[in-house]
Amino acid sequence: MAVESPKAASRRGNRAVWTLPGERDIGFRKRTLRDERNIAMARATLRPKHERRVAAGHLWIYQGNIERIEGDPAPGDVIDVFSARGEFLGRGYYNPHSQIAIRLLTRDDRPIDHAFFAERIRKAQAWRARVMPDQTSYRLIYSEGDLLPGLIVDRYEDVLVVQFLTLGMEVRRDEIIAALEEVVEPRAVFERSDVASRRHEGLEPRVGLLRGELPPQPMTITENGLAFEVDVVEGQKTGYFLDQKVNRTLLAPLVEGARVLDVFCHTGSFSVHALHYGAREVTGIDSSEQAVAAAQRNVERNGLGDRARFEVANAFDRLRELEREGERFDCVILDPPAFAKGKAHVEAAARGYKEVNLRALKLLEPGGFLVTCSCSHHMSPDEFYAVVLDAALDARKHLRVVDTRGQAPDHPVLAGVPETAYLKCFIFQVI
Ligand code: SAH
Repeated sequence: MAVESPKAASRRGNRAVWTLPGERDIGFRKRTLRDERNIAMARATLRPKHERRVAAGHLWIYQGNIERIEGDPAPGDVIDVFSARGEFLGRGYYNPHSQIAIRLLTRDDRPIDHAFFAERIRKAQAWRARVMPDQTSYRLIYSEGDLLPGLIVDRYEDVLVVQFLTLGMEVRRDEIIAALEEVVEPRAVFERSDVASRRHEGLEPRVGLLRGELPPQPMTITENGLAFEVDVVEGQKTGYFLDQKVNRTLLAPLVEGARVLDVFCHTGSFSVHALHYGAREVTGIDSSEQAVAAAQRNVERNGLGDRARFEVANAFDRLRELEREGERFDCVILDPPAFAKGKAHVEAAARGYKEVNLRALKLLEPGGFLVTCSCSHHMSPDEFYAVVLDAALDARKHLRVVDTRGQAPDHPVLAGVPETAYLKCFIFQVI
């Protein structure tokens, strides 16, 4: 079958109609070109050995997975992806300057337009309403997990904070913002695209108000019935770590009357939960002065200030000191930043995780609980589990597994995209 490029067709003054060899697999439909950016003008054919991963649900296509590209797509354009045998595998956006050359947006033959984004956002919102009906602040769009690779939207009450992580999303920002406004009707939309990974996409950081009026910052959100301040302008990431929402509630049966150490406490969310669930006393440690000040305000805001104290310190040093000083705790929470920022750093990261877990275990009373987390997606749950057991061996402690968890369901994991699962949260008891 002859394939006529839509660009050629429009040069001849025709209404561009592109009949693709893959058409049979997508129902004999002909596509009508309306918008160069939302209907695929180009096609990529994959190398056979990479098809399976994509057919099985992965959304990323690396430069090296592509046999050939036809149609001369510009960076950010929509592109259709085919198997070597000409089966249509999906439609995504293209960035020749990124290692991940294509990210799929849909497996259907449909335009990537306002209606597409509005539908995806509606579905994402419906999922949160189903799995966390009482929450008013949550991650509304989790990139690949919501089939919108490269887009993060956090909802803090009636304020949306967006991150456009890829060129493909960046060029569609106006359509996406309009769709968010239509579906969510937020009071304000604020952009926090100040993430290092944008550099891999050839993009500069961008921060600023996009729509509406931001309430004075820090603003207050509710999580699990407790109040927390969030600064969407100055805070880390988009201001708050929503992914631990469910894991924080797991403290409830563990901390009654307990002396708790919350390491890497940020704005004190685990601490506030622990106190709310009956902890006798909480010590929080974080290297960020702003985070520690916010943590102090957060315990006070919830009427729990007299049983908490927070310290600005390097966790690695402070844990050693606490051990030397003979301090002991009934529960230690470890929620460090991602030590492994890339595959190459997994070994060094494992040493960091082992060190903090070893120190934490040494501080635990018999019968005490270790709540230990890793948000490095380069470290698998098995690897992380092994690191903790290794630390336990060195600390001469034996552990019972209380729970093994991941990220809250507003960060949905795609079975076909293992990278969407990044958070590990294991709870052990020292026996
Ligand atoms: N537990 C927090 C989130 C932790 S994010 C919550 O529930 O909200 C990781 C935190 O570790 C950040 O606040 C960061 O400031 C802090 N941090 C990074 N390196 C550190 C170090 N070496 N010592 C202490 N804190 C550190």
